Amino acid sequence: MLRGRAAAISLMSFDLHTHTSASDGALTPRELVRHAAAAGVTTLAITDHDSVAGLLELPHVAGSPQIVAGVEFSTTWHGTGVHVLGLNIDARSDAMRTATGAQRAARRERAERIGERLAHCGVPNAFAQAQRIAGNDNISRVHFAAHLVEAGHARSPQQAFKRYLGAGKAGDVRNTWAPLAQVIEWIRAAGGTATLAHPMKYGLTRTKRRALIAAFAASGGQAIEVISGRQDPARTQALADDCTSYGLLASAGSDFHRPDEPWARLGMPLTLPAACTPVWDRW
Ligand code: AMP
Ligand code: MN
Ligand code: MN
Ligand code: MN
Repeated sequence: MLRGRAAAISLMSFDLHTHTSASDGALTPRELVRHAAAAGVTTLAITDHDSVAGLLELPHVAGSPQIVAGVEFSTTWHGTGVHVLGLNIDARSDAMRTATGAQRAARRERAERIGERLAHCGVPNAFAQAQRIAGNDNISRVHFAAHLVEAGHARSPQQAFKRYLGAGKAGDVRNTWAPLAQVIEWIRAAGGTATLAHPMKYGLTRTKRRALIAAFAASGGQAIEVISGRQDPARTQALADDCTSYGLLASAGSDFHRPDEPWARLGMPLTLPAACTPVWDRW
């Protein structure tokens, strides 16, 4: 019996962090699901930045993985930009409607400020151009990066982030988001599991990272993302230890955006350390 269950679990391949064209991913929701199925993913969370639009328009796809409805909220904690995943949410809930509406407005306000700041650096009209590129989708720095490349201010999106949009640069405007406790509350009100995304990607010292995790847990946070894409095993172990210290569940995801990024592939191995309690244990 136990052997059967273990065998069944080993055949499961969970990827609980992916993006579609509803935020800054390259694939439509339907294409994402097809790619994930082809890559052997059996359970797929779709977690667009501050949006559930991709989930609401997702058609039934034959042979598709099991879909977990998700979202990746932007927030700030003591001046650091932080992302919180809502996993297994009710995408049609009032809480999600309120939350995504507020975050969409925050994104627009931030984008206007990014545009003003870029104008001071010799890039005119960036807000209107980024808005045009974003179309109906939530506007993000990725759309500014596309415009900077298109207008010849940068050779690649990476260079646009390095020069104009990344941490500490003119386009790095952080303080328009809802606070950490608010995004956790929205997720829980929508029936989801609040999961701190990629804690190693905020450039924090170990002490500050643990202070963030402590604050997250104290505000009702339930899980942390122990594996985010291709990752040094020492980091995985440190995050597994953080789970144990703070009594949190563990999640794992690729943070897939597009097929040409080998560090964030669909179907990549995302096996949690045995000491972790997986976030899906409670679903
Ligand atoms: P935003 O949600 O508007 O803050 O945009 C952040 C998104 O930009 C991230 O989710 C990544 O997809 C992308 N991004 C962040 N940093 C970089 C970078 N250095 N190079 C390319 N893309 C990046
Ligand atoms: Mn992104
Ligand atoms: Mn993120
Ligand atoms: Mn992400």
